[in-house]
Amino acid sequence: MTWSKTILTILCSILTLPVFSWGFFGHRLINRYAVFLLPPEMLVLYKPHIYFLSEHAVDPDKRRYIIREEGARHYIDIDRYGKAPYPLLPRDWKEAVALYSEDTLQAHGIVPWWIEVMMRRLTAAFKEGNQAKILKLSAEIGHYISDAHVPLHASSNHNGQLTNQQGIHGLWESRAPELLAEKEWDFLIGRADYIPNTSQFAWSRVLESAAAADSVLTLEKKLSDRFPADQKYAFESRNGAIIKQYSSRYTIMYNHLLNSMAERRFRQSVYATASYWYTAWVNAGQPDLSKLDHAGFSDAETKEFEELNLLWRQEKIKGRSCD
Ligand SMILES: [Zn+2]
Repeated sequence: MTWSKTILTILCSILTLPVFSWGFFGHRLINRYAVFLLPPEMLVLYKPHIYFLSEHAVDPDKRRYIIREEGARHYIDIDRYGKAPYPLLPRDWKEAVALYSEDTLQAHGIVPWWIEVMMRRLTAAFKEGNQAKILKLSAEIGHYISDAHVPLHASSNHNGQLTNQQGIHGLWESRAPELLAEKEWDFLIGRADYIPNTSQFAWSRVLESAAAADSVLTLEKKLSDRFPADQKYAFESRNGAIIKQYSSRYTIMYNHLLNSMAERRFRQSVYATASYWYTAWVNAGQPDLSKLDHAGFSDAETKEFEELNLLWRQEKIKGRSCD
C-alpha cells in the first residue's frame, strides 16, 4: 500500500463514517432479513431477487454525494421543533410547509414525510405490475424506514458535534452492527404485519429515535470519561487497508451500556421494512406477483445504476465517501 493510500484510508476513518446511516453493511442486512418475513404470495418475487434488494438498499446513501436534495430524506432534526412530543410540528406535509416553509423543513430533514412519498410510489408500482419499479422502490423504502429507526437521525447533534463526541454516529450504527450482528444478534423476527396508518407509524418510530438519542449520547460520554484513552481506538485491517476505528472492547462495552439498543432498533427496522412492503402490496389489491412481466430493468435503468456506482466510486477516491 502506498503512503498516500494509507493516509487517505486513515482519513477515511470514524470521523467521516457517520455520514452513513446504518452503514452499508447494516442496510444490506436489514433488507435481506426483511424478505423472510413476507407471506408466500410475496416471496415468489422477493426471494429470487433477494440479492438485488440487499445490494440496492444502499443506493440512497450513494446518491447523497450526487444529488443535493437527497441528504434531507435520511433524517429529521426534530429537536429543532420544540420539545417532545413536538405538538407544534404538523405531521401533514402541507400543513408543515404552511407553518415553517419548505426551506426550513428541508434544512432540518424530512425522513418521515419522504417515507410516505416512497410508500405511494411503491403502491402505484404494485398496481402497475411493474416488477423493476417494485424491486427498486422496495430496496429504497427499506433504507429510509431503517434510517428513521436510528436515534441520531432524529437529533440535531447527529454526530456528537455539539458535545465533543464526533464519531459517535458511526459507533452506534455501523461499528456495533458490523462487530456484533452476525455473531450475536437474533434475527427470528416473526412476520410482516399490515400497517393501517403508515404515516403515523413512521412518526412513532421517529419519536422513539429522538427519545433514545439522549441515552446514546450521555452513555457514550460516561464510557469515554472512564475508558483508557489509548485503548478507545484501534487500527484494524479492512479490505486490505488499515483504518482507525473504535476498538472492539470499547464498542462491546458501549453496546452493553445501551442494553443492546442497536440490536433492538435493527430488528424493528427489519420488521418495519417487511411490513411496509406488505402493506403497499395489500393496498394495491394484492396483485398476483407470479404473473408479473419479469421484464427486468430497462437499458436506461441499468445505465442509471451504473452511473450511480461510478459517481459514488469517484467520491470514494476523492475521500468523501468511506464505505
Ligand atoms: Zn441513509
